[in-house]
Amino acid sequence: MEFHGVLVASPGMGHAVPILELGKRLLNHHGFERVTVFLVTDDVSRSRSLIGKTLTEKDPKFVIRFIQLDVSGQDLSGSLLTKLAVMMRKALPQIRSAVMGLELHPSVFIVDLLGTEALAVAKELEITKKHVLVTTSAWFLALTVYMASLDKETLYKHLSSRGALLIPGCSPVKFDRVQDPGNYVRELAESQRIGAEVLTADGVFVNTWHDVEPVTIRSFLDPKNLCRVMRGVPVYHVGPLVRPAEPELKHDVLEWLDLQPKESVVYVSFGSGGALTADQTIELANGLELSGHRFVWVVRPPAEDDPSASMFDKTKNQTEPLDFLPEGFIDRTKNMGLVVRTWAPQEEILAHESTGGFVTHCGWNSVLESIVNGVPMIAWPLYSEQKMNAWMVSEELKIASRVNVGDGIVKKEEIVEMVKRVMDDEEGKEMRKNVKELKKTAEEALKKPNIPSLYFTQN
Ligand code: UDP
Repeated sequence: MEFHGVLVASPGMGHAVPILELGKRLLNHHGFERVTVFLVTDDVSRSRSLIGKTLTEKDPKFVIRFIQLDVSGQDLSGSLLTKLAVMMRKALPQIRSAVMGLELHPSVFIVDLLGTEALAVAKELEITKKHVLVTTSAWFLALTVYMASLDKETLYKHLSSRGALLIPGCSPVKFDRVQDPGNYVRELAESQRIGAEVLTADGVFVNTWHDVEPVTIRSFLDPKNLCRVMRGVPVYHVGPLVRPAEPELKHDVLEWLDLQPKESVVYVSFGSGGALTADQTIELANGLELSGHRFVWVVRPPAEDDPSASMFDKTKNQTEPLDFLPEGFIDRTKNMGLVVRTWAPQEEILAHESTGGFVTHCGWNSVLESIVNGVPMIAWPLYSEQKMNAWMVSEELKIASRVNVGDGIVKKEEIVEMVKRVMDDEEGKEMRKNVKELKKTAEEALKKPNIPSLYFTQN
């Protein structure tokens, strides 16, 4: 039997990267004849330029297509999850016609967690096996399906009391104070819908592996715990799905890193769209300067209300980010640091031996990229499930120090303290040891694919 897999990613590099990696895995390890990846985006040229850098091979069996979405006139208010869910809903007719237009009818369909409505399209098109790829943690999947199993009133009452949600067999999840109740209700409704739709899939793949989330993974296998909530839908951990660094890549940052001592540089980046406020940007600059440590900082124009706004705000990409740094900062730090506008080759930076720490917003891909390169983190979560990830890497895995992101700004003294803790202190040495151990488990996990060999052939 010839397998043709169709994979669909919702907008954002954080979804595109693991979907593309999974596509490669299906071709290389699971005997697929062909893989077609559809990347939904509101900006094809930007997505193409970012993705272009992540794909070196030209393989006729591996086809990548973009689905250009027109979001003008759409209500894109609310949280990032709500926005992406609205965008993916709008993309459904295009996804349907794109799949129908394929020469070879696909036998396997995979969509990320934000596009679960497309599972119904796959069913209508009679695709034999339908799956969800969770591009974040198994713990977040657990939260999503568990929330869907509760009735709305119980859930809202529970969350507004700000108590921790006790997910069967997992670490509890603590919720923040609700800033905007209207948006919160919309986000919860979307989350519950997604959780319910996950259960209509034939299987769920998660970008994680046993040593990163042993407790949650066990709970998904335990009939008394999450296995019961999943109602028989199998969950496979397939991670780490991380783009390998390109050894030949040339970039100013990498040339600069070549000149620095081993594990001496702190890399600072808030993902593909994360931004700080103007005041916080200045405070971070002052903190880095004061720390006296070498750094590479991917600077983005500030955002005042919504730290994820620059993900879909094209005007932000035309603003000069360096204008928001303190007067004379670049000059004063020219011998110790490098600032990069908006985007840097993250995988290659983390893989470079001069990189010794990572100030990260804890997007799941960034967390995994840090682990597979054995780099301890300073966890500075901004939005979505990043606080859960930050908690996991600092409290559970002990590979990160966590910034206290309350309501105010993080002061330069705290930034100095965090950098020192990870780069100089005994605690940092312990974190470095732990993350290097975890790196080894990632290498082991990649050697043996967790999807059973006959999985795709069985009906
Ligand atoms: N990324 C990059 N260069 C940058 C910023 C981000 O290559 O300057 C990549 C990063 O390596 C990761 C992805 O974009 O693969 C971001 O995913 P993540 O889940 O960390 O965060 P998100 O952008 O989804 O918030």
